[in-house]
Amino acid sequence: MKIHEYQGKAILRKYGVAVPRGEMVTTREEAERVANDLFHDGAKGVVVKAQIHAGGRGKGGGVKIAKSVDEAGQLAGKMLGMTLITHQTGPEGKKVQRLLIEETLPIERELYLSIVLDRAVGKPVFMASASGGMEIEEVAAKDPNAIIKEWIEPGLGLGAFQARKIAFKLGLKPELVNQAVKFMQALYKAYDETDASLMEINPFITASDNRLFALDAKLNFDDNGLFRHPDLKDLRDITEEDPLEVEASKYGLNYIKLDGNVGCMVNGAGLAMATMDIIQYAGGMPANFLDVGGGANAEQVTHAFEILLSDKNVKAVLINIFGGILRVDTLATGVVQAAQQTKIQLPIVLRLEGTNVEQGREILKASGLNFIVAETMKDAAEKVVAAAKGAR
Ligand code: GDP
Ligand code: MN
Repeated sequence: MKIHEYQGKAILRKYGVAVPRGEMVTTREEAERVANDLFHDGAKGVVVKAQIHAGGRGKGGGVKIAKSVDEAGQLAGKMLGMTLITHQTGPEGKKVQRLLIEETLPIERELYLSIVLDRAVGKPVFMASASGGMEIEEVAAKDPNAIIKEWIEPGLGLGAFQARKIAFKLGLKPELVNQAVKFMQALYKAYDETDASLMEINPFITASDNRLFALDAKLNFDDNGLFRHPDLKDLRDITEEDPLEVEASKYGLNYIKLDGNVGCMVNGAGLAMATMDIIQYAGGMPANFLDVGGGANAEQVTHAFEILLSDKNVKAVLINIFGGILRVDTLATGVVQAAQQTKIQLPIVLRLEGTNVEQGREILKASGLNFIVAETMKDAAEKVVAAAKGAR
């Protein structure tokens, strides 16, 4: 699960990580009130930051500095409701509905800090780089040695000696080192205790008055750990998520939208992966990844079908099922129901194997609907790609 920057900063603040003073607002009037408060409290300027679940806002025009309350209001008025396009939003962009109004700080250096799980090593890795503000992927491509890494023993946490090593390698001034150690250890504690899967502070800044701040905060949480954190669950903003993915999650379906035109319904993540591959091998592009799971019932299959078909890019559908716990006759019943309810006009290619496959085929035949039955996966992929190309 992703959250907004202002929510991430509120969590970090609780753990003792310094973040700039500021507040989230949804109207121009609120923006002016917060800016006014900040200027009264001695801020030299305020920064108006679009809150969307994507990075690269700075370059896309979603981070602007104001020198007065009026200017902050004008910027907020322009930014609220606009569609912000960054390299992480895709070409359709994201609508800005919330802003963070924050004090500006006298930035001396912009650095980079992050924590992720290193699956190859089986431990969290703390990463740092002196090139703050730059994408870490860019740093990794240009100069991989510029990325400082410390692997963390989960039972021990980030050791002070490790944090000191990072601080020295970043070239922090000696008088900042102790503060930096506390800062990094607090970050790791927040990452660990919230079951985060990613924490990225880019930039992590040193200010000219020798204070350290998280100027940006990106936090993702492991969905499988969310049941332990009811308070974090409330931070979910479903308006930032793909509506079809939200719909699918209601029915326990694992759906991810992709860019192609072949809709796929598959049971089991491994078979779904193989299906994606073989569609591309046949010269096509999948429109989605949809795993109905091992134990899906007819109702779930119907919902899965509706979700597939509400993607306007879908020109043909491939149903690739290996009946195990999910019996093929159950699936066939669901497919026929859904096809009748949605009055589907698109070609549907089926490749079915496994438990009760004969009964399943009978149900399909008896429905009188026009399905294309394939023998093998390769055959199915070729047929559906051809159908997608030929479809109106
Ligand atoms: P991102 O582009 O989505 O990662 O958004 P960031 O929050 O990282 O902001 C992008 C850039 O805006 C930062 O790298 C800073 O250079 C600048 N920026 C952000 N907040 C402030 C601030 O309070 N003061 C100043 N002077 N610059 C800021
Ligand atoms: Mn950033």
